[in-house]
Amino acid sequence: MQSEAADAAVRVAGLVKRYGDKTAVNGLDLTVRRGGVTAVLGPNGAGKTTTIETCEGYRRPDAGTVRVLGLDPVADAAKLRPRIGVMLQSGGIYPGARALEMLRHTAKLHAHPLDVDDLAGRLGLDSCGRTNYRRLSGGQQQRLALAMAVVGRPELVFLDEPTAGLDPHARRATWELIRDLRTDGVTVVLTTHHMDEAEQLADHVAFVDGGRVIAQGSPDELCRSDAKNTVRFHAHPGLDLDSLLKALPDGTAATEPTPGSYLVEGSVDPQLLATLTSWCAQSGVMPERLAVERHTLEDVFLELTGRDLRA
Ligand code: ATP
Repeated sequence: MQSEAADAAVRVAGLVKRYGDKTAVNGLDLTVRRGGVTAVLGPNGAGKTTTIETCEGYRRPDAGTVRVLGLDPVADAAKLRPRIGVMLQSGGIYPGARALEMLRHTAKLHAHPLDVDDLAGRLGLDSCGRTNYRRLSGGQQQRLALAMAVVGRPELVFLDEPTAGLDPHARRATWELIRDLRTDGVTVVLTTHHMDEAEQLADHVAFVDGGRVIAQGSPDELCRSDAKNTVRFHAHPGLDLDSLLKALPDGTAATEPTPGSYLVEGSVDPQLLATLTSWCAQSGVMPERLAVERHTLEDVFLELTGRDLRA
């Protein structure tokens, strides 16, 4: 039986990458299993793009090893290129090229490409026809770069911020395409700043900060890893929170951040909810708009680093 690492789509171990005296990636370890969507999340400058570009063979590691589909992305570039799809943040497309001609040309280079007209239609590119790449809008350029990355039906696709700058409609179309790739068995590695994108699409999330992976797991695992969640409700101001706290399990916090708005934070389970609502019943309090709020990936990142993901 092959080990998980040997069978991985991507295996990065101890990756270090410097630009002059700036260490962009600082001992990064990441294993991406075959199949599914892996989202690499982190604030600006965390080292996401450098890591992805090293996996794509555009940058050589200063230390550490990178294997993509079991191959070295630099030494085995010729073998790897037909098997992977790459969407660069900067597009990487010749500016004078005509949009759909480029896509058709790229499709012809592959043995089993996707249907170009169908793909162009799905991504709203059919109207771009003979327009030069440089004359496309930013969003159209972005969608064309995505189409170019996937048209060859790669085994593995790297998408660097695939929805940056897209309007909500184009963003949803991109999400649908990524879901279909996943269903077709394509391994997708994407970077994003959008938590909702990762929550919607990713089977696996890796948080990158300061050039390292600081936490990883499924969105569910990560959001559960700190078992603290929140119950929010509204009632008349000035509830006796000391009395409420006595009823709730140890380690639970209850606060009134603004008058009449209450937060109960702790290990929120059915028992805690029952205790809270029975305390309300005994106290003659109607908890309006009572909601259990799960921690988001954004909250988890904030707890891990003390900083906002978008900082
Ligand atoms: P973003 O979310 O803003 O795209 P990122 O996580 O992708 O950020 P990188 O682009 O990998 O981060 O950059 C990591 C660090 O390396 C940053 O401090 C950046 O300024 C620096 N850096 C990246 N490319 C170069 C380069 N070609 N020359 C010098 N420094 C660079």
